[in-house]
Amino acid sequence: FLSHSLQAKMSRPVQARRLEGIDKNIWVEFVKLAATYSKVNLGQGFPDFPAPDFLTEAFRRALSGGNHMLHQYTRAFGHPPLVKVLAQFFGKLLGQDLDPMTNVMVTVGAYQALFCCFQALVDEGDEVIIIEPFFDCYEPMVKMAGGTPVFVPLRPNPPKDGKLMSSADWQLDPAELASKFSKQTKAIVLNSPNNPLGKVFSRGELGLIAELCVKHDVLCISDEVYEWLVYDGKQHIRIASLQGMWDRTVIIGSAGKTFSATGWKVGWAVGPDRLLQHLRTVHQNSVYHCATIAQEAVAQGFQRELMAYGKPESYFVQLPKELQQKRDWLVQSLDGVGMKPIIPEGTYFLVADISQFKSDVPDDPSSDEPYDYRFAKWMVKNKGLAAIPLSAFYSEAHKNNYTNFIRFCFAKEEATLKAANDILQKWKLEKTS
Ligand code: PMP
Repeated sequence: FLSHSLQAKMSRPVQARRLEGIDKNIWVEFVKLAATYSKVNLGQGFPDFPAPDFLTEAFRRALSGGNHMLHQYTRAFGHPPLVKVLAQFFGKLLGQDLDPMTNVMVTVGAYQALFCCFQALVDEGDEVIIIEPFFDCYEPMVKMAGGTPVFVPLRPNPPKDGKLMSSADWQLDPAELASKFSKQTKAIVLNSPNNPLGKVFSRGELGLIAELCVKHDVLCISDEVYEWLVYDGKQHIRIASLQGMWDRTVIIGSAGKTFSATGWKVGWAVGPDRLLQHLRTVHQNSVYHCATIAQEAVAQGFQRELMAYGKPESYFVQLPKELQQKRDWLVQSLDGVGMKPIIPEGTYFLVADISQFKSDVPDDPSSDEPYDYRFAKWMVKNKGLAAIPLSAFYSEAHKNNYTNFIRFCFAKEEATLKAANDILQKWKLEKTS
């Protein structure tokens, strides 16, 4: 009798309404597949080469140096040495005096900075514009805050001369973008350099977005985690530095991407106090505090970079050079087998066209899974090569327009990229024989 009444009580819904429809996550599924089947993992975005010595040494010093207080809590909104150096560094980049206590907040990776933004700035009924393709967590995070995501796609314009496409060939249609702004629009999410395409937005494109933000009094959540990873002499432009934008922009960054240490999960938000004060409210009522030792080591990493700024020994100069070479290797491998790569201007990633490989994985009209998901799953199981389907970076309504591409991560050791090349070459031979 007792157990019966307990069971009855448990039949009420346990799940909060805000979680409806956001339970699926591409990474949970594809990370597991890669762990089970992959010989070469170019899926999830993390380097398999070591973080720089100056950074890991700083961590070691923080861990076992004389200051045992580094094992205790520090300031909730950011360890003082870290917020100070971030304020100095970004102040220099933005040409703006930054107050370490009010213009900078340290978070558990850029991921938590994003979460704080949506929780702090988006209300029930607010619309948030998201540019497709997008880092997948933006959509569920907007929904969890009670907001409505409004999507606007980057549209591919293939070059006519038969050359490989570049991420720069994916552009916003200015009229279409303008049409998405309305009285309900609270914010736009900008991610430049963009994951997954590697697109680095031009000054003109950023100017257009800025103009619309100012005109409609809209905030900008600017995810700049790949800010140092730009190639071919391209320049990363910070939208917050454009006229009228500082006051309405939160810049988000990641030590994981900046120093090739994604597992440390140190990130930050930089912006005006009028916005950051609300991010602090979310932070103090959720995570409250981030690991002190990791913050101390990242602070020292930035101190070193502040001294080396613009010089050849700067990690922010060296890393993109190394990654550009890695990008070119992977571009060559893919182009060589006919899996046409879209050359990225920045980030860890490149997107490749799998149309010519369709005979290996036939279309299945009865499947409700997008073709690129099925292709990526087949590839990791049968070829041992892990990548991520591009349609994972699109909203439900637009997924089906982009099912002929997969995303590769090239932030890998030369040996890993060679092993990927071997798999692709062998595959091509099997196809032609
Ligand atoms: N934004 C983008 C565009 C990313 O690609 C990632 C990581 N893949 C993040 C944010 C999250 O960064 P972190 O690991 O610092 O939380």
